[in-house]
Amino acid sequence: MRLAYNEMERVFYKATFLFFEYRSVDFLRYGGRYIKSIAQKTNLPVRDDLKHFICKRCGAILIPGVNSSYRIHSKSGNSYLKVKCLNCGYSKKIIFKPRDVVKSKMVRADINIGKNGINERIIKEIDTRLKVKKVVKIRINKNFIESSGEEREEIAKKVSSLLNAELVEIRGNTFILKRNL
Ligand SMILES: [Zn+2]
Repeated sequence: MRLAYNEMERVFYKATFLFFEYRSVDFLRYGGRYIKSIAQKTNLPVRDDLKHFICKRCGAILIPGVNSSYRIHSKSGNSYLKVKCLNCGYSKKIIFKPRDVVKSKMVRADINIGKNGINERIIKEIDTRLKVKKVVKIRINKNFIESSGEEREEIAKKVSSLLNAELVEIRGNTFILKRNL
């Protein structure tokens, strides 16, 4: 499963790279379609962070300002992003909700706390991610849990308080932190 996800991600970035290199939207079209075909073959959904940038109708990878327009709209307190594909004209709404948390569950961990445990470097790294993404998924190394003599919950709470972030969920050896604006 992870292999297929990696492959979709690889194709996505490769196609985007080739587009910027050769300025041909063909790469975006083929790349997007290829990602969809991997998803169909493996019966896996295209991950949200990639799907948002792929046109639902024509399958092209969407690059803002190149073959798509992105506008943020606000309606009764909810914000959504309207993405329009300039290739086929199809537009879709991406709604922002605390749903980002759900999304991050599907995604592999952003950061691993390795056997060296919690140190300044790792805290800084998580802090940077929180600044950018607001929600970060962290995996704790099994050996570190064993050697620390602490429960996963304690470790997760410690990290969340060090970073002034909300501990949203603990599942297995991973936990999710969220920083409110
Ligand atoms: Zn399209």
